[in-house]
Amino acid sequence: MLPTLFQNSLLNWYDQQGRNHLPWRQQINPYRVWVSEIMLQQTQVNTVIPYFNRFMERFPSVKELAVAEEDEILALWTGLGYYSRARNLHKAARKIINDFNGTFPESLPTIQELPGIGRSTAGAILAIAMNKQTAILDGNVKRILSRLHMVTEKSVSATEKRLWNLTEAYTPALRSGDYTQAIMDLGATVCLRNKPLCHVCPVQSHCQAHAQQRIAEFPPRKTRGQLPQRAINLLIFYQPETQQVLLEKRPPTGIWGGLWSFPECPDNIDVQQFCQEKYGYQVIHLETLDRFKHTFSHFELWITPLIITFQHHGQGVAEDNQHVWHNLTGNNQSRGFAAPVQRLLTAMGSARQ
Ligand code: SF4
Repeated sequence: MLPTLFQNSLLNWYDQQGRNHLPWRQQINPYRVWVSEIMLQQTQVNTVIPYFNRFMERFPSVKELAVAEEDEILALWTGLGYYSRARNLHKAARKIINDFNGTFPESLPTIQELPGIGRSTAGAILAIAMNKQTAILDGNVKRILSRLHMVTEKSVSATEKRLWNLTEAYTPALRSGDYTQAIMDLGATVCLRNKPLCHVCPVQSHCQAHAQQRIAEFPPRKTRGQLPQRAINLLIFYQPETQQVLLEKRPPTGIWGGLWSFPECPDNIDVQQFCQEKYGYQVIHLETLDRFKHTFSHFELWITPLIITFQHHGQGVAEDNQHVWHNLTGNNQSRGFAAPVQRLLTAMGSARQ
């Protein structure tokens, strides 16, 4: 297949049907493309739109992002998940200010050295914001190319290599930004994972899987066994007189890194003893809420929230940069919470309004 025929078909369609209303397609610059690309990793467009708008309102350029407190960035990220993305944005913004004088670098290898930016994201920034001929290979593009060419390599690395070769061959020198957005749009609106809309596909005549009616076989499904399971208790130390609960800042790495959460206790040890030994609190009453599951990419976490009223004989846990007594009924917008913690706080706050 001639790449130019494919590019022309796709670009003609994009000129008519492209999603130009998306907020990151307005006032295009490397910063806005970068932030949108990071937010869109593992996350649906409709979910990202309000987060992107709030983020841009608060941090309109890399300068504001670089000098922000991490807590505030994580607060704006609360609910989007995969929080290392937000921490890496922050680190990369500081690097751009410190090492590149605030100007986004313009070479693929240099951009890839920034925290959290891989080859595909770097390619998207260069193509969309600077119209450079750099290829992308996100999930949508992989799916389209896999169907167009019925890609069946023997190993994951061979498949990646073939797909990168294909995406580089198709990415044009002219209108590379439009082409990149066009192929993203094709994957998001036509060449869908389930039930692709082949009858309206602008590149249908180029598609081998369609010609052979074997679309369901591409991309080949990964066989994924059951994820490992873990279980924890979240200890909600509750002070009825002040309507406050204790939150701890989690370590910077690991799950929910840098976010505020309830103290965690492994599910196989005695909770009362744990509260006494670690916090100096004697449990007066313990209410067990319904256990629920939170799925991470590599394991499933079963969470049992325990609301604990307590007394203590010493000073108790004082506020510092790792601990805070969070007001359930007040405005606490400036902290980042993991999604399950946010849900529990909202439910407890509503019950006490
Ligand atoms: Fe995807 Fe169907 Fe178009 Fe092939 S014809 S690229 S399977 S939408």
